[in-house]
Amino acid sequence: MPARRTTDEPMLHGTLTTFRRRCGKPNCRCATGDPHESPALTYTEGGRGKTLTLSATEVPEVRAALKRYAKAKAELDAAANKGLAALRRRRGAGRRR
Ligand SMILES: [Zn+2]
Repeated sequence: MPARRTTDEPMLHGTLTTFRRRCGKPNCRCATGDPHESPALTYTEGGRGKTLTLSATEVPEVRAALKRYAKAKAELDAAANKGLAALRRRRGAGRRR
């Protein structure tokens, strides 16, 4: 079986954060005390910032998916830099001729 490429696994682009909110129930502890906290993923879609609340069990997989994205992005950026360097080298060589 061929090794799975990084890009075949789930990826996420965003930020893992803690979402705090007051539910609005007057008898709830959050009305006077600390707001409810839940893990959330903030991300941008179509130029708009969005928040997706997560269950505690989703956090590890989301964290892993974010990591995968960062790694793939770094590899992609490195490849793009290499491409740019190659293009520049070719121009430099052309100019010397
Ligand atoms: Zn509440």
